Amino acid sequence: MGDNLEVRTEVQLNLMTAGYCTHREWLTIQGGSFGSVRFPAMFAYIEHPRLGTVLFDTGYSERFFQATSAFPAKLYRWTTPVYICEEETAAHQLRALGVPPERVQKIILSHFHADHIGGVRDFPNAEFYYLRTAYRPLQDMSTFRATKAGFLPELLPDRFGERSLPIEETCSKISLNEGYAPFTEGYDLFGDGSVIGIDVSGHAPGQLGLLLRATGQEYFLCADAAWSTAAYASHRLPKPIVKWIKADWRQYKDNLHRLHVLHRQRPELLIIPTHCREAEQRYVLGSEIKGDARRG
Ligand SMILES: [Zn+2]
Repeated sequence: MGDNLEVRTEVQLNLMTAGYCTHREWLTIQGGSFGSVRFPAMFAYIEHPRLGTVLFDTGYSERFFQATSAFPAKLYRWTTPVYICEEETAAHQLRALGVPPERVQKIILSHFHADHIGGVRDFPNAEFYYLRTAYRPLQDMSTFRATKAGFLPELLPDRFGERSLPIEETCSKISLNEGYAPFTEGYDLFGDGSVIGIDVSGHAPGQLGLLLRATGQEYFLCADAAWSTAAYASHRLPKPIVKWIKADWRQYKDNLHRLHVLHRQRPELLIIPTHCREAEQRYVLGSEIKGDARRG
């Protein structure tokens, strides 16, 4: 394991949203409202000084509707209403920013739920970084079990395995310096201290968060280790009823607690959960005009 490390190479970071789903808020956080609220599927567009365009997750794409048109995957669509149109996909939005999908070299996947891998087929030249422990359990699952695990295999591109760089085998494991306690170790994804992957399992096995720094600000993109800023800031768990969709409830609770402690110790480090509306409003350009996508 390498020396105590901190994030030392800056990247450019744009947080963006590709679609959203709705859920009753009271299920997702203790004390939440009974109303149905919007959960944006954010992703990160990163420009690395040496490696070019890198994505962290992709949000939804319209393929979700095709992939959930028959049983048992249709149950996914019934329990999770999803809203996305072509103009809102990661590929379309990047193209509008002058980044053709072919230019995306690397996609880091936090985990394999459809709201994170929904757009990966749109990036034909990307190689994929993820924790082996996130993907291996899904590979031999029945369609029913995969649906329950939030995984729709047809969202992955052909030759996914050949284009993959499982992090445990490809990247150096490092000790983090004490500024990230109680998180103590991670993976130096590109070998230059620019993007550090942190195992935040619980919501899904092998779930990966990212530490990185852009324009002097340090970020921890924590994926679904918390569903909102309020959840880690005030340490509020979801309702116990959602235990059945968490892969490992004990790990989930542990990592939410770690995020809470880290936030208390270093409030200046921005912890961003993928589905946090408040973070979206603050950091995603144009987020106020989103929300009018058609329902599938
Ligand atoms: Zn998610």
